[in-house]
Amino acid sequence: MSETSLNTQQVQQLDAEHHLHPFTNSGALNKKGARVIEKAQGVYLWDSEGNKLLDGMAGLWCVNMGYGRKELADVAYQQMQELPYYNTFFQTTHENAAQLAKEIASITPHDLNRIFFANSGSEAIDTILRLVRHYWAIEGKPYRNIIISRENAYHGSTLAGASLGGMGGMHAQGMPLVPGIEHIRQPYWYGEGGDMSEEEFGMACAQALEERILKVGPDNVAAFIGEPIQGAGGVIVPPANYWAEIQKICHKYDILLVADEVICGFGRTGKWFGSDTLNIKPDIISMAKGLSSGYLPIAAVAVGNRISDALIAHDDDFNHGYTYSGHPVSAAVALENIRLMKKENIIEYVGNDIGPYFQNALRERLGNHPLVGNIVGTGLIAGIALVKNKETKEFFADDIDIGTICRDHCFENGLIMRATGSRMVLSPPLVISRDEVDELIDKALLCFDLTLKSVS
Ligand SMILES: *Cc1c(COP(=O)(O)O)cnc(C)c1O
Repeated sequence: MSETSLNTQQVQQLDAEHHLHPFTNSGALNKKGARVIEKAQGVYLWDSEGNKLLDGMAGLWCVNMGYGRKELADVAYQQMQELPYYNTFFQTTHENAAQLAKEIASITPHDLNRIFFANSGSEAIDTILRLVRHYWAIEGKPYRNIIISRENAYHGSTLAGASLGGMGGMHAQGMPLVPGIEHIRQPYWYGEGGDMSEEEFGMACAQALEERILKVGPDNVAAFIGEPIQGAGGVIVPPANYWAEIQKICHKYDILLVADEVICGFGRTGKWFGSDTLNIKPDIISMAKGLSSGYLPIAAVAVGNRISDALIAHDDDFNHGYTYSGHPVSAAVALENIRLMKKENIIEYVGNDIGPYFQNALRERLGNHPLVGNIVGTGLIAGIALVKNKETKEFFADDIDIGTICRDHCFENGLIMRATGSRMVLSPPLVISRDEVDELIDKALLCFDLTLKSVS
């Protein structure tokens, strides 16, 4: 930082006076002062007080190729000089958008061959909501407009995203929500499975879809949407039979299947997409975050032949798009990001090397901790349930915010781990090394001990 830059307090003061933070109690934050992040390299961040933090969350599940990748900065710089912006609305395109569309089509599962660009996961989700309803209208069935989603799902924060998501706290603000959206139970076996076996529970959660379809009328349902593995909801890995059953039900009633791959996409689960890992064949998927490793905002919707063929055959405009759809600089960065992922065999590394190492180490070294009720995850995504009593699976009472207590200890001890309720979640950069995984777990262990002390 240059000598003329502001000190921590000055930044915090400006921030408190003028910056409204997302998903934040601004009054409480302003009293305390935001932590000022100054720079980053690899899997580490540094704040303005000189603290070094191991970023166990890859930013917000997005900095998959790690911080400080000069290649990504260079292509952005070059592209900005050559063509910083042009739109793709009026029968124009540019090489990066075309190349990126082809590149994405080549890595997405089965017939997801056509790509619509947006700038955030939320915008991709809005696009999907509009697109699937439009699709059914083209097919002469405009009454097929209900989308079924799940409680505790996260699909972004625009009105469509918040409505499709299943977060009570979000539904409570900015009402009324988008109509025509239904929510069924989430497949969270550890927390909600009761006495059922994992398989029984997976079946029951999938059957909830069929029950809802029958309740609202099969002819009124456009699509079912789900994250292959729920991310912001606490990293919830569904029972192994769940997605197969969901797909059967979608087929039976001819309902489109949408996979929200914003977190699971781009290697997080050890394959290109969560749909590959969980054996899902979606009609349409959203992606964002890891697409550019978070270096610039860009998102995409990959559309299967069934929908894209209908759209193309329908001789009319699709009245939807964003000024920055297919932005040339963001597209250049995404292209370079994918090139780096391939060059460095990142998918292979997460799937067969660091992913299994991380998952084993978590279970072996944290699994016996008295606070840890259960650990789930695959590749480089994991969720850890914190409980009051391991044996009886008793959760902490509402007046003890165990997740926040733990998260604060982590921050104080050089580790960024996020809390969602009483679940701790991890999603480190995909380039993390074994030594760095060891360090992450050393720190987590220390922080779980400190958390236990804080509540005993
Ligand atoms: C983050 C996220 C979104 C929203 O993406 P934004 O870029 O924040 O708008 C949508 N779906 C899932 C699964 C996400 O994790």
